[in-house]
Amino acid sequence: MRTKINLPTALYIHIPFCESICDYCDFTKLQYFHSFAKKYLVALKRELNERVQNKDIKTIYIGGGTPTSLDDKQFEALLKMVEPYSKNAIEYTVEANPESLSLSKIKQLKKYGVNRVSIGVESTHDQILKSINRKHTFSDVKSVMRNLRDNNIDNINLDLIIGLPNVSFKMLEEDIKNILSLKPKHISCYSLTVHEHTVFYINKIEEPDEEFAYQAYKSINSLLEKSGFTHYEVSNWALPGYESKHNLVYWNNKRYYGIGLGASGYIDNIRYKNSTNFNQYVSFMNEIEQEIVTPSDEKDYELMLRLRTKFGVNLIDYQKKFGVDLYASHKQVIDEYIAQGYLTLQDNVLAPTFEGMMILDKIYLDLA
Ligand code: SF4
Repeated sequence: MRTKINLPTALYIHIPFCESICDYCDFTKLQYFHSFAKKYLVALKRELNERVQNKDIKTIYIGGGTPTSLDDKQFEALLKMVEPYSKNAIEYTVEANPESLSLSKIKQLKKYGVNRVSIGVESTHDQILKSINRKHTFSDVKSVMRNLRDNNIDNINLDLIIGLPNVSFKMLEEDIKNILSLKPKHISCYSLTVHEHTVFYINKIEEPDEEFAYQAYKSINSLLEKSGFTHYEVSNWALPGYESKHNLVYWNNKRYYGIGLGASGYIDNIRYKNSTNFNQYVSFMNEIEQEIVTPSDEKDYELMLRLRTKFGVNLIDYQKKFGVDLYASHKQVIDEYIAQGYLTLQDNVLAPTFEGMMILDKIYLDLA
């Protein structure tokens, strides 16, 4: 007899539209047009109703693209569509860009129970923002933060990019100080990756070299720790209790629904990815890629994902789940990493230090 499927309690929804396209962007996105978004919301509602069998959803994340690029009516239609799933949500996040998070949209967020907002800041230097085709200024970020707080939405993440062209180390530190002055609860810093088919790639912009990225992360970490933040995942810092509950579902190798163009999900033993072809998606011809996750794959995912966070891998749970005593099978290499300050082992939890998070690929290969 087949075992009962544990339905996911996390839901990701992708809104692929943006007001303009940033020069470095490799996400599944397209220019916003009212008529495109209208068609998209119809297809999205259908996928949501068909795929999401569990109404008892604990975490919701609406990302993009830029969800706030929808006009007010479409934005409300989206939040209304999600309402039947959000009743029991403990964390409900919407991504936003500063220039399109209007007061009316903030009031809609509040009305529909959204309790966390993630804002793409990327840089706090207006000339840099302009040079990468972002449409906001740092002053827009400040006013959006004020408006969110005036409407009692205080759980806010700010995103920053490390290694943008013409951003010196000093400017990066200013970015962190500027961001801290806004008192967010959570900060994400991603190192620039230059993908094919982006303006950056065409213009031969280079990614930051390893040493720059390492020194940048180190300096950011030190500034943020002094302000009470904890580095809990490779690119993420949070004040106590404000770690992203939704993203921890991914990093803890748990199941989640993914809805929308190019969205990924993980249900039962299948990881899937929706079509990235807009016309296919809105014509209800969503061609889905699937990966059957075998117990051995799941063991690898578990290690790879859990080692991304400071919460690490509980070796007793790991052994119960996969029948493998990781410490016994890799004692020498684990002991070496611990002695060198890359890993810690306390109360049967194997976790990376800050330095360990900087070389995770190597650690993972040695432990796989
Ligand atoms: S706003 Fe975000 S998703 Fe849209 S183009 Fe810029 S980086 Fe990409």
